[in-house]
Amino acid sequence: MLGDETIAAIATPPGIGGIAVIRLSGKNALIITEKIFIGKDSPCEMESHRVVYGRIVEPEKEEEIDEVLLTVLHAPHTYTGENTAEISCHGGIVPARRVLSACISAGARLAERGEFTKRAFLNGKMDLAQAEAVLDIVSAKTKEGLRSALEQRDGVLSRRIRGLRDTLVSIMTDLELSLDFADGDVVFPEIKAIAEKIYNVITTMEEMMQAGKRAITFREGASAAIVGRPNVGKSSLLNALLLEERAIVTPVPGTTRDIIEGWINVHGIPLKLYDTAGFQNADNVVEAMGIEKTREAIQNTSFVLFVVDGSVPSQQEDTEIFMRAKEKPLIVVINKIDLSKRIIISDITGGNSYPECEVSAKEHTGIERLNTEILELIGAKDFKVDSAIPTRARHLMHITGAVRNLKAAYQGIGENRSPELIAYDIREAVRSLREIIGEVNAQEVLDTIFQEFCVGK
Ligand code: GDP
Repeated sequence: MLGDETIAAIATPPGIGGIAVIRLSGKNALIITEKIFIGKDSPCEMESHRVVYGRIVEPEKEEEIDEVLLTVLHAPHTYTGENTAEISCHGGIVPARRVLSACISAGARLAERGEFTKRAFLNGKMDLAQAEAVLDIVSAKTKEGLRSALEQRDGVLSRRIRGLRDTLVSIMTDLELSLDFADGDVVFPEIKAIAEKIYNVITTMEEMMQAGKRAITFREGASAAIVGRPNVGKSSLLNALLLEERAIVTPVPGTTRDIIEGWINVHGIPLKLYDTAGFQNADNVVEAMGIEKTREAIQNTSFVLFVVDGSVPSQQEDTEIFMRAKEKPLIVVINKIDLSKRIIISDITGGNSYPECEVSAKEHTGIERLNTEILELIGAKDFKVDSAIPTRARHLMHITGAVRNLKAAYQGIGENRSPELIAYDIREAVRSLREIIGEVNAQEVLDTIFQEFCVGK
């Protein structure tokens, strides 16, 4: 299935660093390495999982490229399940590229995105859900996200899916047995027990889906636009949040010159904040653009922090911005609470009730309360991430399909439908579960999944 090709890639990010690692995997990984490595030991003769010091040279020319440490790993006890060599060279763009091109000259080919992990999957080192977890590990934004990804990599979700798959297979056996006993007709007590089992599996899957949807928020995070009229303290609030919540990334100017964004970590949930303060300007043209940008920001985020200045009575502009903001779930953030409060929120909201939170961006008070409100709004309060739940849209899609089939089967029993039809629906549900762990997969599905990886993983 995999052919004899040996693949190679730079496994470390581009740029200057301590070391760079070039990874080779495939049947000939060690033979290829041998052609470009000069050291005390010969890569082909080395024991597995050993490191040796040496030099990488141009194949045949013996012109030195860099001094390196070579790690030799014999199949099958490697990440990909194939012979693997890892060459650690000096961490610079030129040394890494030259070592890679020496590998190619010696017979390897450039790896595609995610191809190392894809090979690990195809060689049975991990199932598909575990391979996806590898991607979640490298892209984890919080320590909670990392923990759940590591557990999924260990197969916690896969085991649960296999458990459900086995239950459904045993239900199908029951169905066949009950058929045999009754000469084509299903015996009532048995079919009742079967219906009950199907019902239980549906309940479990529906719970998994509920939790899974929240887990996706947990992994991918949510995003919020900070909106409000000029000078209410939007930028100050963004800074206070970034400071208090240990910004994941320091605020950087975004694509638009004046938009400022940053990731914060709200109790383990990555939250991307967009400050729309830069959109406002006394100049009318820019003002109009600013309104347009604010509207866009509201549209593109999951919720809105609508900021008002609590120390002054509300103004017409507050109401105008509020009318736009309320397209999305929102929290009214009453800022400058360190000054005396003069605002009446119902003047803006027309008396409708919205979560409110009093803060002082300047003195950093009320920020923790605001976090709690945010968690409540995105449905993540008291949410403990469980690694045995689906964490990707792809998993949810297959579980939804399986639930649909099982409901049809359950209903079919109630309607006395032919056992073959019931068995068909259950078989389809089993197929959906097998898709999650990659027991049945179309090539395109695999390609899409591994395209998300970087080259070298
Ligand atoms: P933006 O235009 O909405 O982004 O507002 P800024 O964050 O630039 O703040 C406008 C002004 O309000 C600045 O002078 C801030 O120092 C001040 N400010 C912001 N937050 C507070 C606060 O909580 N209390 C007080 N007293 N002043 C604040």
